[in-house]
Amino acid sequence: MNIVIHRGTKEIGGTCVELTTNKFRIIVDLGIPLVSDRKDQPFDSKVLEGKSVKQLLGLGVLPAVTGLYVGDEPRVDAVLISHSHLDHYGLLRYVHPDIPIYLSEGARELIKVSDIFTPYRTGDLTVRIVGNGKKFKVGGFEITAFLVDHSAFDALAFMIEADKARVFYSGDFRGHGRKSALFTRIIESPPKDIDCLLMEGSMLGRDEQIYKDEIAVEKGIKDVLENKSNIAFLFASSQNIDRLVSAYKACRKTGTTFVIDLYTAFILHRLEANTKSLPQFDWPNVRVKFFKFHADKIAEAGQEKLLYLFNKQKIEMEEIDRTKEKVLMILRDNSLFPRVIGHIHPIKGAQIIYSMWDGYLTDKFQGYCREKGIAIKQIHTSGHAIPKDLKAFAKALNPKVLVPIHTFHSERYGEMFDNVKVLEDGELWEVPV
Ligand SMILES: [Zn+2]
Repeated sequence: MNIVIHRGTKEIGGTCVELTTNKFRIIVDLGIPLVSDRKDQPFDSKVLEGKSVKQLLGLGVLPAVTGLYVGDEPRVDAVLISHSHLDHYGLLRYVHPDIPIYLSEGARELIKVSDIFTPYRTGDLTVRIVGNGKKFKVGGFEITAFLVDHSAFDALAFMIEADKARVFYSGDFRGHGRKSALFTRIIESPPKDIDCLLMEGSMLGRDEQIYKDEIAVEKGIKDVLENKSNIAFLFASSQNIDRLVSAYKACRKTGTTFVIDLYTAFILHRLEANTKSLPQFDWPNVRVKFFKFHADKIAEAGQEKLLYLFNKQKIEMEEIDRTKEKVLMILRDNSLFPRVIGHIHPIKGAQIIYSMWDGYLTDKFQGYCREKGIAIKQIHTSGHAIPKDLKAFAKALNPKVLVPIHTFHSERYGEMFDNVKVLEDGELWEVPV
């Protein structure tokens, strides 16, 4: 079996791996880059606008895989998507519609949600749903999906076998989320005889975490809620389901009303079929704030009936203001924020629980909050494995060769792990068996 990592040997984001045998070919992940070509700036997704497949191939944005994209004769047997983060699936919209896409049910739902609410449209795909521990065949490949703990809901790792070679692709994972049991399970009964492990290393080169796990995050949020005398805002991704659960539990324990927006209510509702234990819009302590932008999107998607459903738990700004010392409201740094805080009197003494990667926290926004007398407290834990867990993972899987992927620090793998082989983007490499 041959491997080409088209993007990801030395960067985080835009992951794409091609695996081939004599007759068959699959792609694992097809993400939007997070950094520019020279890796010194964020990737500007505007470069995608109005461009053809040919132009994007020419720019090196689309990985050079023949027979993968619309307009070409399909020559790829399947695309496997590990999870619903854009840097792993965001280029799917260019894939030939006849090529089947394998992903988890949760990933499919969240990709559909992003199709409705964001400019990233994947459009119509030929989807095949795969679940934890399920083996499936694609041409000469035999593939097993493993559910993993990650900040994306229902994330998968894949074991891929062909030509007597066995490759394990970790996808993005961690051992400190609400589903850490999934990590422990793989560590305690790992798949055997792995020839090659493609393992992410996002956390290499990053600082130690202040909040070591999702439970510590829940406690951190609870401490804020217990001691506040004005409104608190939760800045978090509504697709980070673990984080929503942590916030909800902290609210329950402190008698705080968790005010979610329609977007968040919609996401939780879509995932209800998959997991009954996720908080929903009609659970105790949950209320829904309607914003026109979200309501319009839901209506455009033909889901107006959900607006009537969510309406039962609707909360207005007047009530939020009146009960503000008992409110945690989900919001983000966008145009809604100034509008919302305009309804809170006084706003001085309000707090933001900043519960996402601090790379998104701009100086401009911090200055704005200082001016308004709003304190910002960072309470976050990463979606990615810390070095100790990466070591435990590599040790358990015990591969003949470990290949770095999804990292800015492939050079550190050699110091931390055994049998490391650093590839270059686009390099064709035969898996030794
Ligand atoms: Zn991810």
